[in-house]
Amino acid sequence: ADPNRDKQIEAHELTAKLYHHLLMNTKQGQSALAYLRGRGMSDKLIDQFSIGYAPESWDTLAKFLDSRKFPLPLMEKAGLLSSKQDGSGYVDRFRGRIMFPIWNRDGKVIAFAGRIMGDGQPKYLNSPESPLFTKSRTLYNFNNARPDIRKRRKVVVFEGYMDVIKTWSAGIRNGVATMGTALTDEHAAILARSADEVTICYDGDSAGKAAAMKAIPMFEKAGMTVSVAMLPGNMDPDEAIEAYGPDAFLRDVMDHPVSAVKFKLIYLRKNHMLEEDEGRRKYLLEASKIVAELETATEREMYMKELSREFGVSMDALKQDVHAVRLTNQ
Ligand code: ATP
Ligand code: MN
Ligand code: MN
Ligand code: MN
Repeated sequence: ADPNRDKQIEAHELTAKLYHHLLMNTKQGQSALAYLRGRGMSDKLIDQFSIGYAPESWDTLAKFLDSRKFPLPLMEKAGLLSSKQDGSGYVDRFRGRIMFPIWNRDGKVIAFAGRIMGDGQPKYLNSPESPLFTKSRTLYNFNNARPDIRKRRKVVVFEGYMDVIKTWSAGIRNGVATMGTALTDEHAAILARSADEVTICYDGDSAGKAAAMKAIPMFEKAGMTVSVAMLPGNMDPDEAIEAYGPDAFLRDVMDHPVSAVKFKLIYLRKNHMLEEDEGRRKYLLEASKIVAELETATEREMYMKELSREFGVSMDALKQDVHAVRLTNQ
């Protein structure tokens, strides 16, 4: 065991408790608590996810850690404190933010994400990479979700912390999120060890859809079957739950994921003028390439039937096009 590492983890654990206490039981935390309640978070949920508040002051945490004899340079390396510009000491890294502890697989706090209340930049401030915290390998809520993921061999991947928390309260126990960074092959490989199926449930805005398009081949490469749960408009899961309620969200979004191929065919639409013949022709050409990637003839036929119906082209013509793509791909 590395004693420095143990100290850093212990400091994170205590800091999470301090921030949670400040949120729930102090005057300083009142506006943060009101903010969270305003976003539909019950006290029980705030408790379950150990959400906290880092006050505006420059040195609340620095003093707290110092009084408990944690070496401050080590705390700076762990990402809890920042060194002052003139090198004369340390200040709190997180100030005036809602704090989300991030756990490792053993359920130990190894980092934080701090959300500003209301508007302002950056919206989320995360702990820096540290010996404890590697963003490319960490998945938010994996420690809590792992039993359910393993039992059902299924995982749901969201974009944000709030999405994981809100969907957890709606009954989804196999949800995780990346750390505000794009999905990595390492994330996919980690999830593939516990699950065979993944549902991507990213934000409904164009950034979320583009991110889903990138994530699909990464999960497939890891050997997983991929589906996509699509959100209405530009909403994210947290907003959809607030707007329509948890039951409608589960029924209309989570219970009706589309296959990866279906999602690609839908996504492809936005780059084509489907009201024009030329746009439809180009769309069908690209769609043939997507359908051609499917392993089995029955699957290919399923999607060709849909395209044939929608675009009024014969199955024969579609089959020829898909076949031609498959020949060139060989
Ligand atoms: P909220 O619901 O609190 O507004 P969100 O999760 O909907 O947050 P998005 O803008 O959709 O926020 O971003 C998705 C995720 O990307 C966030 O949960 C966070 O992990 C990360 N993120 C967003 N903005 C930043 C930022 N400025 N710096 C670092 N990470 C960020
Ligand atoms: Mn987003
Ligand atoms: Mn979002
Ligand atoms: Mn959101």
